[in-house]
Amino acid sequence: MPQGISDRFRAVMRPSAAALEPYDPAFSQVRVNLSANENTYGMPAEVRAKVDEALRGVATNRYPQPLSPDLRAELAAWHGVDPSQVIVGNGGDELIFNLLLAFGGSGHILVNCTPTFSVYRLYAELVETEVVDVDRDPVTYEADADALVRAAADASLVIVTSPNNPTGNLFSVEDTARLCEACPGVVLLDEAYMEFAPEGSSAEPLLAKYDNLVILHTLSKAYCLAGARIGYLLGCPDVMAAMAAVRQPYSVNVFSQAAALVAVRERKTFDPTIEKIVAERSRLSQGLQELSGRGVTVWPSAANFLLVRVPDAHRVRERLRDEYSILVRDFSSAPGLTDCLRVTVGKLEENDAFLDALSCLLEEV
Ligand code: PMP
Repeated sequence: MPQGISDRFRAVMRPSAAALEPYDPAFSQVRVNLSANENTYGMPAEVRAKVDEALRGVATNRYPQPLSPDLRAELAAWHGVDPSQVIVGNGGDELIFNLLLAFGGSGHILVNCTPTFSVYRLYAELVETEVVDVDRDPVTYEADADALVRAAADASLVIVTSPNNPTGNLFSVEDTARLCEACPGVVLLDEAYMEFAPEGSSAEPLLAKYDNLVILHTLSKAYCLAGARIGYLLGCPDVMAAMAAVRQPYSVNVFSQAAALVAVRERKTFDPTIEKIVAERSRLSQGLQELSGRGVTVWPSAANFLLVRVPDAHRVRERLRDEYSILVRDFSSAPGLTDCLRVTVGKLEENDAFLDALSCLLEEV
């Protein structure tokens, strides 16, 4: 746990920041880490060799190119857009923060579709943005599109995650279009996990129609670069210019730009691993459904993780960590997610280790 903030310095902090505590990702050294939705297979060896080669040629004495032009051009070609419609960030997190810096602030409203990724609210509050939560269905976690459309009419920014973290639900392309029409501000579709979803799920085709639609992608998940911190947005040149205006010029370092360029050029090489993760997701889900007699509920997911409800989830998560050295994410005290854990889909042996351990623990309860 990081050290807390002393009262002495809290007293002189910006009030919205003084209300916070240092972020604790709750990581610990474990045998099987299924807690952060990473790609646990790691980078294919032939891509890694090319990344290593590229890194060897990187000069460190010069500042990075602020807008990552080579990577930006490669991403634009991939997505069939102009480079002016792409902006690269130090992970998706930085881009979310910058969106709130640009479109949030006092007098501005963020519409948030809860339960969802917690950083949207966190960053919104940090820059004094009013947050309007539109709750998902308490049983299925499907978004309430009508309520979102109504709330969007007053929003500077609407964020919907598809597939949603931590519930796994997709948001339909049709409802995204309705949101773009209803919202005078920017609509962010966070597609960080879209590579694991069925073909045709992405709202990307709408970019040509709506200038207020922005789509977030990251190389942290499917493309094995969580450690390098590379995310990017697709949107209209105007909104990308607003993002370029608020960003820290050198936030994306030379090593990460070089590694990402290789990963994007070699992206097809990742497809077999993505397919394996999708297949493992079904197998893991099936294994969890077989534990339904012991109080386990698992939701459908289009991402590389599953949301699972288990009796006494907080304790189960601690025992998985302490007795089996398996780490999953605890959402059991998050609003709307009572007794829920989120488990990343890992390799076959990792998923089996988790299923076996969970089965043993639930037998004892
Ligand atoms: N969006 C969602 C929904 C996420 O879950 C994450 C990572 N946890 C991100 C964005 C940001 O990912 P990164 O900063 O690693 O690109």
